[in-house]
Amino acid sequence: MATGISTGTAELRDITRMERIGAHSHIHGLGLDERFEPRANSQGMVGQGKARKAAGLVLKMVQEGRMAGRAILMAGPPSTGKTAIAMGMAQSLGSDVPFTMIGASEVFSLSMSKTEALTQALRRSIGVRIKEETEIIEGEVVEIQIDRSLTGATKTGKLTIKTTDMETVYDLGNKMVDALSKEKVLAGDVISIDKASGRITKLGRSVARSKDYDAMGADTKFVQCPEGELQQRKEVTHTVSLHEIDVINSRTQGFLALFAGDTGEIKPELRDQINTKVAEWREEGKATVVPGVLFIDEVHMLDIECFSFLNRALENELAPIVIMASNRGMAKIRGTKYKSPHGLPADLLDRVLIVSTKAYEPEEIEQIIQIRCDEEDVKLSPEALQVLTSMAASTTLRYALHLISCANLIARRRKADVVDKDDLRRCYMYFMDEKRSVQWLKEQQGNLMFEEAEDDNAMQM
Ligand code: ATP
Repeated sequence: MATGISTGTAELRDITRMERIGAHSHIHGLGLDERFEPRANSQGMVGQGKARKAAGLVLKMVQEGRMAGRAILMAGPPSTGKTAIAMGMAQSLGSDVPFTMIGASEVFSLSMSKTEALTQALRRSIGVRIKEETEIIEGEVVEIQIDRSLTGATKTGKLTIKTTDMETVYDLGNKMVDALSKEKVLAGDVISIDKASGRITKLGRSVARSKDYDAMGADTKFVQCPEGELQQRKEVTHTVSLHEIDVINSRTQGFLALFAGDTGEIKPELRDQINTKVAEWREEGKATVVPGVLFIDEVHMLDIECFSFLNRALENELAPIVIMASNRGMAKIRGTKYKSPHGLPADLLDRVLIVSTKAYEPEEIEQIIQIRCDEEDVKLSPEALQVLTSMAASTTLRYALHLISCANLIARRRKADVVDKDDLRRCYMYFMDEKRSVQWLKEQQGNLMFEEAEDDNAMQM
């Protein structure tokens, strides 16, 4: 692109989406059907039907590009799946719709201001889908492969000739395509395909057509890689985030900073330049803007300056959808002496759609535990499953899920493949949940240091 602004796509393609593993690795989507109705147990998701349906509707609007600069607040008690639902949304977004997840406390960093950190997170969540014209050079390597999707009694075969940017598909008909060949050929090569065996033979570039055709049996199909076609100019699209364009064009950073994650502050003038360029590309039909999703977990940890910055940023034309999550009830707005629902100022609350999550029923807890056990490759005895389910009900779901791997270790030490209820009980003794910890603190009656809380909000900050 002769634009002066680089998009650095080749370097970026591989790092835009990294696989997330950990507490939510069992979540593969929102588990909704075509009508956005939540399935009871699907894609790793159980229960929380209303919230999942609401998330599905938001997702649909994002995908249709109908919703930008809007904010959603997921509010509910701890361990009720707010983050899990956000992860489900991330899994269901198309591969070129950006999804960024941050914890609110990440914004408070020594290396950059709060507003810079938020700006970077917002710009990470805006994709720019860029169309570029590439020319396929004569002699470029293409790949040939046969798709052996076996349908019914007859096996059908399709030959696909691929370059990096285009695909040509030849139907081989309903003949047996068995032996699968995968061979690199050059544009302009002549290949033969034995329709009976599916074998591909490369005949070279200057084959006397009639001679070779005659030599092969009736079951042979000849394909000349369509040289003329391959040389056409083709349009390719790729998506990068505004933040990635910023970093690549920042003289002090360069694209390697993307790998280190240490991008530092970016000058506002550079961002203005990039916004102007993107606007130009849009006008010329070279690019479209894809508003993605920014998820801010524990949003009550932001302070009043961040909230007012966010409020303004949401009005920007280039704003993503911001999904926030909080498990707080009435809480102090950080940086002020005022209390507000979820610790969010009233003007921001006024512009968000609130989705609430509620505590799980025992059957739902049991299913989530079961899913997690499968994910972690742990077997629980039926009594252990019952005990863990009731532990989750009296503590939290997260606490119970944490005990799975721990109890498994204890079971393995006694050379058992299946975790039983005594393994769990032992873990329960070793590790306190929040309620027991509070109780224990009360019993210590001031034996620990720095206990003098000055006001009733101290626990909330
Ligand atoms: P907090 O307010 O403490 O941040 P949260 O509401 O974000 O809690 P999660 O972290 O989403 O809770 O849930 C705790 C654990 O339970 C995670 O491992 C999550 O994947 C799992 N989980 C929660 N809800 C569901 C669900 N509906 N289906 C499957 N797994 C779930």
